[in-house]
Amino acid sequence: MARFLFFLFSFLSVLSLKAYDNTENVKFGSTVYPIYSLSKIDSKSFILYETPISDKISVKFNAVVMQGKINDSNVKFELWVPSEVKKDGESYIDYSIIKGNSRIFHGGRFWVRFDIKSKIDSFKIVVINNGVKSDKFEIKIYEVQTITIPVKKSLEVSSIIEDKSLSLPEDIPFKVIRRGEWKANPPKENYITHTPMKITIHHTAGHYPENYEDSFEEIQFIQDYHQNAKGWIDIGYHFLIDSMGNIFEGRPILVVGAHVANKNTNNIGISLMGNYHPPVSNSLTEKTLNSLVTLVKYIKDKYTIFQNEFYAHRDLSATDCPGDIIYARIPEIKNAIFQNDIRSFKVDFDISDEDLKKQISEQILNW
Ligand SMILES: [Zn+2]
Repeated sequence: MARFLFFLFSFLSVLSLKAYDNTENVKFGSTVYPIYSLSKIDSKSFILYETPISDKISVKFNAVVMQGKINDSNVKFELWVPSEVKKDGESYIDYSIIKGNSRIFHGGRFWVRFDIKSKIDSFKIVVINNGVKSDKFEIKIYEVQTITIPVKKSLEVSSIIEDKSLSLPEDIPFKVIRRGEWKANPPKENYITHTPMKITIHHTAGHYPENYEDSFEEIQFIQDYHQNAKGWIDIGYHFLIDSMGNIFEGRPILVVGAHVANKNTNNIGISLMGNYHPPVSNSLTEKTLNSLVTLVKYIKDKYTIFQNEFYAHRDLSATDCPGDIIYARIPEIKNAIFQNDIRSFKVDFDISDEDLKKQISEQILNW
């Protein structure tokens, strides 16, 4: 019989500061991300889902974060830490339990953070029934990461005023959905400014929004996850682009982001929303490519960025990001941006303002 030691941890305090950008997922044996499970349950089910026990983790960390999507929000998340106990000549696995601080958004998009107070090197994550209504439980886990966050004592609400001069100018010839438009939270702390000198392409390796409202909620989710689970100042990326070609402003372009470990200064992070890697392999649309090319073309001209400073995330770190599907298109994308070769990308913007449309068409013809 396993005995459970319950460690109750203090309520989520607001975290911030120089959390590092660890983009590697925790491994659970041969389990592949996104982790997916669909199981029949009844009202008496106590455990709805559990991961296998993770592989041994050698790096130091003080929190585990996870994000994904569930079909019923009446759940609790726990992190179970195994230890071998020997008693009366028998040995068995005992678990200590760490409760998670979680937030579940509309549509079942969730994140959870477990604060780790003493050293552990493996764990499993368990989802507990807290009154689910459905007879099936479905969970998708996009990310499980171990991170190190400096803990701040007080629960503060940021009162930092957004400085618009750090963003792309207002008069750019294409539509960017600004922070104010998607109701971004202010940064948790003052930004560090920088000069854009390189560009790195990512995918979010998560949810693939298929309409504007969905994208809108997803970017709000990502910001909340980055700020309140990972403890970053703000959303990590500078721009996010969805499958309809909508460009969302993330962190203002003139401030340091959080998207490539140890290589964030002067580096602009652009993330395509979805998972462009097998087995998920979301479809990379021409509208997304158009918007990416339009955006980067503008940025490289405005800030004088050269072709050899245009990267895919995997060129800089050990990661699959931005996925095989995007990676295969990088030479073509680079050409379209830097070699005035737009053969593959016909521009097809949804712009109601006819003057602006004309202006963009002319600009594109002049590439
Ligand atoms: Zn990436």
